[in-house]
Amino acid sequence: MCPPGTAAIPLAPSLNTQAYDIVIVGGGPVGAAVAIALHGSGFAVLVLEARPDAGGGNDARTLAMSYGSRLILERLAIWPQIEPVTPIEIIHVSQRGGFGRTLLSAQEVDLPALGYVVPHARLQQAFGKALESGQTTLMTGARVISMESTVDGITIEFHRQGILHSIAARLLIIADGGAGAGLRVGATVKTREYGQHAVVGLVETSRPHEFKAYERFTPDGPIALLPFEHRYALVWTATPETADRLMALATVPFLESLQRHFGDRAGRFMSIEARARFPLTLRYASDPVLARAVMLGNAAQALHPIAGQGFNLGLRDAWELGETLARNAALDPGSDECLSSYRALRRSDRFRGIALTHSLVKIFSNDFAPLRAARGAGLSLLELVPPAKRAFMQRMIFGA
Ligand SMILES: Cc1cc2nc3c(=O)[nH]c(=O)nc-3n(C[C@H](O)[C@H](O)[C@H](O)COP(=O)(O)OP(=O)(O)OC[C@H]3O[C@@H](n4cnc5c(N)ncnc54)[C@H](O)[C@@H]3O)c2cc1C
Repeated sequence: MCPPGTAAIPLAPSLNTQAYDIVIVGGGPVGAAVAIALHGSGFAVLVLEARPDAGGGNDARTLAMSYGSRLILERLAIWPQIEPVTPIEIIHVSQRGGFGRTLLSAQEVDLPALGYVVPHARLQQAFGKALESGQTTLMTGARVISMESTVDGITIEFHRQGILHSIAARLLIIADGGAGAGLRVGATVKTREYGQHAVVGLVETSRPHEFKAYERFTPDGPIALLPFEHRYALVWTATPETADRLMALATVPFLESLQRHFGDRAGRFMSIEARARFPLTLRYASDPVLARAVMLGNAAQALHPIAGQGFNLGLRDAWELGETLARNAALDPGSDECLSSYRALRRSDRFRGIALTHSLVKIFSNDFAPLRAARGAGLSLLELVPPAKRAFMQRMIFGA
């Protein structure tokens, strides 16, 4: 049970005299989702976003969102804004140089799709528009630099238009994507370098995708093709040196490399556009809750894209936090009791998501022959034991 809420907290000496119940750092997809989930809760919410335009940005990522994320985005009224999306009906999982493969299909779990593919930029645009609709106070061009908590509240400092501002709140939600260490003071953050980069792009093939995605494990890292409109979104993980080379290659040699690496199960690769790269690191906070602050989305856990779990997990963080706070709207949102309740609700899903993703990277990104055989056996077993396969799929779609 959370303690009764207090009236507006006294402000520390500051350049800005307004107090908010909840300040959210970061208007990315996860910060925006929690802000929208809090609409109608009665809390005074402020979103501080460093970018000049909440809906702007040209992130080259294309995300696979689970069917479970669709349900959350429908409740947030964001889903209609991001359509048309491309459904994933089947996922073909295999490993290079080894036996064993499995097919995961939406039919097996009685859903219209396992997930949907949407460009990050379109998602950001839809969330930005919803933030700008007026129900939340939004300040763009505001870069938060520090926070300091007391028993009663938390003071947040940010730069905007060359001026340093200070603002008070009862709860700070950190959804900055993990960008600034200044907002993680007191947190234990664990990091594992994978020595892998993701090269992404949009590729056309000689065969239509028929809404099938591919996840192929190779000793250098996984490679995924996600059906997207009339082509595929490619996520090719490689060592930083190989990624340098792939980024520098002209179109034809790039497509030849891709064909050799992936094989011909999706047809012949015809064109590549919008190449970009992302370094990959696992970074997660042992505990996402700090004094009068909570981290969520990539600020709490940044995962390898191998299983397409990062945004899906972050969206569930946002939804659960919004629900927990709205359910206890008469109470102090930054109290230990409120935040403990959120922590307990998210513990299992967070840690299972982190562990599953990390294990997949470790088990599948090497060429040790006995492990290759064990992986093949694992993939075949999944194919032979339908209840285990369904349980695995449910876990990937809806979380733990
Ligand atoms: C190559 C690749 C492929 C991926 N594919 C998938 C996938 O298929 N499925 C999936 O679920 N996930 C995927 N992910 C993960 C997914 O992209 C992230 O989990 C998700 O984008 C994180 O959203 P976020 O809102 O937490 O952070 P971000 O999107 O990083 O947003 C953070 C926001 O905070 C703002 N900000 C930062 N610092 C400050 C500050 N100091 N003050 C104010 N504002 C600040 C930023 O401007 C930004 O708007 C992938 C990741 C990569 C790298």
